[in-house]
Amino acid sequence: MSDYVSRVSADLQQRYAGQPEYLQAVLTWLEMIAPALEDNPIYERVDLLTRMVEPDRMLTFTVPWMDDQGMAHTNHGYRVQFNSAIGPYKGGLRFHPSVNPSIVKFLGFEQTYKNALTGLPIGGAAGGADFDPRGKSSREIMRFCQSFMTALYRLIGADTDIPAGDIGVGSREIGYLYGQYKRLTGKAESSALTGKGLTYGGSVIRQEAAGFGTVYFLARMLEHQGETLEGKRLAVSGFGNMSWGVCRKSAELGGKVVTLSGPDGYVYDPDGVCTQEKFDFMLSMRAGGADKVEPYADRFGVEFFPGKRPWEVPVDIVIPCATQNELDVEDAVMIVANNVRYYVEAANMPATAEALRLLRLSPKILTAGSKASGSGGVVVSALEMVQNSLRYSWTRQEVDSRLKQIMGGIYDASAAAAEEYGLGYDLIAGNDIAAFKKISTAMIAQGL
Ligand code: GLU
Repeated sequence: MSDYVSRVSADLQQRYAGQPEYLQAVLTWLEMIAPALEDNPIYERVDLLTRMVEPDRMLTFTVPWMDDQGMAHTNHGYRVQFNSAIGPYKGGLRFHPSVNPSIVKFLGFEQTYKNALTGLPIGGAAGGADFDPRGKSSREIMRFCQSFMTALYRLIGADTDIPAGDIGVGSREIGYLYGQYKRLTGKAESSALTGKGLTYGGSVIRQEAAGFGTVYFLARMLEHQGETLEGKRLAVSGFGNMSWGVCRKSAELGGKVVTLSGPDGYVYDPDGVCTQEKFDFMLSMRAGGADKVEPYADRFGVEFFPGKRPWEVPVDIVIPCATQNELDVEDAVMIVANNVRYYVEAANMPATAEALRLLRLSPKILTAGSKASGSGGVVVSALEMVQNSLRYSWTRQEVDSRLKQIMGGIYDASAAAAEEYGLGYDLIAGNDIAAFKKISTAMIAQGL
């Protein structure tokens, strides 16, 4: 590591000791882009790294709201505008009790580098609140979203910062947020938010986009090995939109997702989560606000493993779809021991730094990181913005084929950068380097 990188990383570790997820994301990234830093002394002269690993700005606000019994509550809201070198800030909002400055900064950082290779002009951002939507009525959710937007609306806009969904924020919440944005600004500025409902400017496929994108990326990795998804068994975690998209698209391409998981444990379905009835059941569990997968096992007569994670199942492909750090070293060791051949991330930073290092360096397994294989959601968000600008809606087939093409472009850029820097088929480092080069070029061109 060069002196400059050591200095930046020591400074980060000292300054942000209390923000472990953010530190994990930036330190891993510094390790990945190291080969590209040898290239150009200008990086240090313009102190590029410090500017790239810190957000441009971060807003913290209170979100007071009233429950159905007339009691007031106050949550903490955040919006991190990370980097706008390539275009307006863009990224999701997460409503979950774990949301704090470290989580939103790690998400905003990852989003910046995820967005860079989509080929569409968008910078990176993230936000959310430590609000737990589970068990709340629709009216409570609406009041919360309205209060959240009242604090946020001055900071966002179609050319400034465009929020979307993430964990706990789906099209219902985006609808309430967008409605309040319009009331406050008096403008029907449709691309101020993405993930909108289909009748008011939303895009087809936005809900399943993240999962579809991951499977398209995986299909390119398989193709590189002269293989297809036909007959392959996949383990996924979670049972939300992302897992649903993976189940659906891999079933379409001949693969079989055999696990789903929730905080209660995982289910093993050897026939695969492949039928419309199973997809519908999974979505209805989610829509009902449940966070348990056991009902799936009861309904379809399959095995349920309480308190366990799905990584112990021997499969060909592992796709984590739930949340950060859901996979640790022990899981990674098990994945390698089970002869899993592909590890492809859909969720943001789903593996701990040590687990990811172990998987990435294992010669038996091919890996793809969330900033590449997890970008389908934001790709379709960006396509939603394009449709809004055109004041037009594309068909399912048009959006799907653009998504496939863009995911292929991200794969190509990652593979090409890995090769250029003598890193073989390291798609994770390749992706980080390609995104770094694109953003750094834009930042340098735009001056200090
Ligand atoms: N957090 C989401 C993702 O990266 C949404 C980003 C967006 O659509 O702006 O998949």
